Amino acid sequence: MSSASAKRVFAPGERIFTEGDVPDVAYLIESGRIEVWATQGSKRLTLSYLGAGEILGEMAVIDRAPRSASADAITEVSVTEIRADQLRARLDEADPVLRGLLVGLLSRYRRGLRAARVGVLDEPEGDDLAVVDQKRRVADKIRLERELLEALDGDQLRVVFQPIFDLYENRIAGFEALVRWDHPTRGPVSPSEFIALAEETSLIVPVGHYALMRSCVLLAELDRRLNSDFRPWVAVNISARQSLVPDFADLLASTARESGLDPSRIKAEITESLALDYERVQELIARCRWHGIGVSLDDFGTGHSGLGHLHRLEFDTIKLDQSFVKPLPGDLKAAALVRGIVTMLHGMGAEMVAEGVETIEQAHALKSQGVRYLQGWLVGKPQDPAVLDPLDVNSQLLELQSSQPGLDRHGLRA
Ligand code: C2E
Ligand code: CA
Ligand code: CA
Repeated sequence: MSSASAKRVFAPGERIFTEGDVPDVAYLIESGRIEVWATQGSKRLTLSYLGAGEILGEMAVIDRAPRSASADAITEVSVTEIRADQLRARLDEADPVLRGLLVGLLSRYRRGLRAARVGVLDEPEGDDLAVVDQKRRVADKIRLERELLEALDGDQLRVVFQPIFDLYENRIAGFEALVRWDHPTRGPVSPSEFIALAEETSLIVPVGHYALMRSCVLLAELDRRLNSDFRPWVAVNISARQSLVPDFADLLASTARESGLDPSRIKAEITESLALDYERVQELIARCRWHGIGVSLDDFGTGHSGLGHLHRLEFDTIKLDQSFVKPLPGDLKAAALVRGIVTMLHGMGAEMVAEGVETIEQAHALKSQGVRYLQGWLVGKPQDPAVLDPLDVNSQLLELQSSQPGLDRHGLRA
């Protein structure tokens, strides 16, 4: 099939399509005039007249139904064909709520049309399971979105800190800030559910800003409570949409300062999909570094960031996704892969944070592959920063150091 859209010309009076046809194209009308009509008993019921610049025949393409009307050229008509897959690809990319609304509108329009033709409004036909499922998901999303807005206004969101252990220094080095939603009736809603929703809409901007502000306030409170020289950092998750906020790095720095923190106490965690937008992310990193803010590449290995331009981006840490940690220590290939990535990072002046570390055996394997930072349940679960004690470190981790005589900090034998 050719990828270019085809042009077609219809003579005056020529049929463009007929009621009942199963369509594979819609049309952009370039010139001429068209009548769209349906049958009403033995009569012809004109539904509309269309002209240059209008779209014809898109409905049946969108909801994959037979044509509900016929179209004839009144004058000579010239059109550009829009292939069904062109239209559907756009629909598939669209906001699911908008897509659901569109399909709902079409089905209402078709019922109205049937009513006009037979003179009575029929009962809605039972939707097929896929449509029922889509309607339910749209309704759930609309409700969840509304509730998330309320959660932002009323104190239902909170931020927890998950500790990150530094194997070189043998102590906690910092935390990852993770947002939590305590829903008044549903109970805790998982961030993997509502962050995805917030990312589909612009709600991620206020949610992310809340997480950033609270993280700074909580870290400053922790400083005051511990009253020591200990200066951990906090890594805040930044979604792609948030990073588009003008002067975002400056906003990070000023938010830290408002809480009395030096900006170097925060790290921005960005995901691989954002890093694909190379030019923009390079600018963001440069501005963050100017403020002393570290930048971490999150979920490394799950996306498609080419190693090709990774080396040109000045991340200070790369977070290895849990899926690479799970097969350790048994899987020697996974271990070799970790070693290879760490060697590359060291060449770039960056360090690795391994995520999802649950067992001491995994910690052992990661340490011997040169990984510097560990995050996961072994180190600690995400906790309320008001009560966590960063000096209360899992003793198994502290013993890891002494249990590996003869290995230097890169895990190499002396
Ligand atoms: P993430 O950034 O990859 O965060 C790590 C996730 O792994 C967290 O899930 C954490 O609780 C979980 N985790 C940590 N250690 C372990 C472990 O040992 N085993 C297992 N199985 N899981 C572990 P959580 O808190 O459910 O967050 C899920 C995702 O939601 C995060 O993934 C992040 O992408 C997103 N998220 C959370 N808070 C924010 C936020 O404030 N802003 C944005 N943009 N995204 C956020
Ligand atoms: Ca993260
Ligand atoms: Ca992650």
